[in-house]
Formats: sequence, structure tokens, C-alpha cells
Amino acid sequence: MGEGGTKERQSRGGRAADAARAGRAFVPSLVRDRGGSRGNAAVAAVAHIGQRLGIGDHLTGAIDLLLPRACVSCERLLSRLDTGIVCGLCWSRLRYLPSPRCERCGHPISSGSCRWCDLLPPFIRAVRSVCWMPVEPASSIVHALKYEGWAAVATEMAERMSRLAWPPDVVDERAALVPIPLASARKRQRGYNQSALIASGLGLRWRIPVWEDVVVRSRETGSQTRLTPEQRLDNVAGSFRGGDRQLERLRGTHVVIVDDVVTTAATLNACAKVLFESGARIISYVTFGRAHASGDRL
Ligand SMILES: [Zn+2]
Ligand SMILES: [Zn+2]
Repeated sequence: MGEGGTKERQSRGGRAADAARAGRAFVPSLVRDRGGSRGNAAVAAVAHIGQRLGIGDHLTGAIDLLLPRACVSCERLLSRLDTGIVCGLCWSRLRYLPSPRCERCGHPISSGSCRWCDLLPPFIRAVRSVCWMPVEPASSIVHALKYEGWAAVATEMAERMSRLAWPPDVVDERAALVPIPLASARKRQRGYNQSALIASGLGLRWRIPVWEDVVVRSRETGSQTRLTPEQRLDNVAGSFRGGDRQLERLRGTHVVIVDDVVTTAATLNACAKVLFESGARIISYVTFGRAHASGDRL
């Protein structure tokens, strides 16, 4: 998924300039100190040490709490009412997927049959996403999580994802969450798997476990942003395989795969195919963002 795209990145620069004019130039500069490459490298290094000690997630969360209190999306100062590191204004501006939506895939529909459902294999029960991508502020929120080292954003995204409405059978049956795995090189570079962080926040709220080791990424796929749906399928084919351990758990279950953003569902489908072939009976998807295509109601 192309996070934000050039237009959104430029609009962030515009807001930074506004803040500077308002005499708050120090706020973005503090954010950038943490959010830039230096910050990212430091967080990745500390997170790596944390992973080795088995306290990675706690450490990364602790780092975020010690940092300047400016919104990681719009860079305005956070107020005391803001409980996380994205401000209330940004959360209120989120572009939620409009109703009516398809009961199965959750995609906004106008009339008749749902074209988005055609993307999904038959063993996919339901798909839900919170908001449109790439649309601000969702693009900046996802960018902060994936490329700026702001791991704590995952909890706030998970909170919005936890409130999504599902068909009752999905709520009854869902046995576990499975985050889309990252290849180990990418995980070392970032210091964490963003989907796993979101999944752990969701698991707490839905009171179901997270199974990280039932599927692994055998190779990292290149950027999919400029590929056609067919090319995306080729790009991800064979990039996942069943994990060496814990496969027994999967047998006959309904699991929910977690990712930050869904575009054509090629990555989710490739991961789901491996889980299905490993014994899962039925699979659902949950993501924070969903890419809109031409013709979608925004
Ligand atoms: Zn904000
Ligand atoms: Zn549908």
C-alpha cells in the first residue's frame, strides 16, 4: 500500500509551516527528532534489545511515553484530554467507510451485487476496515506507525478496529488473531511488526489470543503501490508458508487475519490460503485502512 502518497506528504509539510507561523515551530522539530531516521534507528535498536530480553513491546511503549507530547499525525500539541499520541481532532476527522456496506466484505455498496467480494476466496467469511486510505489523517497515522517508529499508535488504531460491527457468527466463532507476518530482515529494520502490535491491542479487547507463529513470511515482497491487481497476485504468490510450530492449533478454527491496510487483498489472500491449507476452516480479515478505488463512495 502506498502510504499517503505525495499529496498527503506535502499537506503535512503545509501544516508544519502553519504551526511555525503560529510560533510553535519547536513542536514539529521535536517530533521530527524522534520521527526521522535517527529516531527510527534508535527505536529499532532498543526494540531489538527488548525483543532479546522478551520485553520488546513494553520497552517500545515506554519510549513513546517519554517523548514530546505532539500529535504524530498533525504535529499539533496534544492536550491533557488526549490519551494517546494522535490528537482528538485527527481521530474526529477520520473518514469512516460509509453505509450501506456489504454484509460480507464490509465495502460500501450502492446497489445490487458487491464487486469487492469478487476479490475474496470462498473461505473468507467477512472483512472489516475502519477508514478510507490514502486519505488524511489515516495516511499520516499509518505512516507514523510503519515508517516513523511510533509503535504506540498501534494501540489507538486497535481501539477503533475493536469497535467494528461483525456478523454474529464471526463474533461467536473467532478463535484467534493472526497478524500478517513480516520477513525477518524487515522486522529487524523496523524493530517490530506493526500488524502484530495492532493484533495484540485487538486481542486484549476481543479477549482472544494472537497466534503469530502459525504462518511465516518466506520472502518480503517489493512495494505493491504501482502494480495492477494481477501483478500484485504474482508479487505475493509463495511469499508465505505455514509456521513450523503450533499448526495443530489451526485445525478447524475460524481465525481473523490482521493488517494495517488492505488494497486489493492480494497479501491477505496469500496469507489466508496458507492458513486454510494448514487446517483453518474459515477466515476473516480486519484492517485499519482500506484503499478506495474509482467509483467508491467516499
Ligand atoms: Zn492530530
Ligand atoms: Zn462484498
